[in-house]
Amino acid sequence: MSALDIAINRKVYRTGGGENVALADLAFTVPQGQFLCIVGPSGCGKTTLLSIVAGLDRDYEGTVAPARPDRIGFVFQTPRLMPWLTARDNVRLALDPPPREEGRAEALLREMNLGGQLDSYPGHLSGGQQRRVALARAFVNEPELLLLDEPFTSLDAPTAQRLRDSLVTLWQRERPTVLFVTHDLREALSLGDRILFLTAGPGRMVLDMPVDLPRPRSPDGSAVEAARKRLLDLYPDLLRGLDTKKDAEDAA
Ligand code: ADP
Ligand code: MG
Repeated sequence: MSALDIAINRKVYRTGGGENVALADLAFTVPQGQFLCIVGPSGCGKTTLLSIVAGLDRDYEGTVAPARPDRIGFVFQTPRLMPWLTARDNVRLALDPPPREEGRAEALLREMNLGGQLDSYPGHLSGGQQRRVALARAFVNEPELLLLDEPFTSLDAPTAQRLRDSLVTLWQRERPTVLFVTHDLREALSLGDRILFLTAGPGRMVLDMPVDLPRPRSPDGSAVEAARKRLLDLYPDLLRGLDTKKDAEDAA
């Protein structure tokens, strides 16, 4: 896949009474292999944007090129595993026949420390383990484009951090283009090569900035913290409406 070119002039949801403009005048290009974080408050159109980029929603004014990349991985807000399939079969289910690489599903699960749970059902896995299966599933087809929609929310901090580390390791090895949606500025600063900030009603881009911090990074590390402070000093309004309580307090 070459660069991803996104130009959404308008995305409207028509509801009973009228129209809800979810996105407007949103244009950006993502170079191949870039890890792009998209940050914005609840309701600003982040999930809508990912659905459009994935080719799941074609009801919008604008263009996305390539329109539907061949190999795309999606990690949703909840793991969305099939409860009647084992961890292994949940990952294998996503494989496009013929398998690109024999044993890739199992290899990815082992890499996620799930070698002992290959034949476990989702109901017997912890929340963190289920997310690891979802991450393995997203990588099984060697995606050119990986879309993640707030994938690590409602996990305890160490579990979320282990998942972020796994994601970065896989990304550095396989280099898909990544669109990672979050409302957590620390998470975005610890993961992204670049961050786009969206505002609500309708979703528009307010800031497009590179993140030039060396890797590996930690969301609690001093480099991320300093970058966050600098950003809040420069753009005190940026985080208004974000769900991260401490960020909101600091910005106030
Ligand atoms: P986010 O993921 O940033 O929280 P969404 O993309 O889910 O935002 O939603 C953006 C806006 O579009 C919100 O105002 C939401 O209520 C509205 N919206 C989302 N999906 C639908 C839908 N299927 N029908 C009508 N309105 C929707
Ligand atoms: Mg959403």
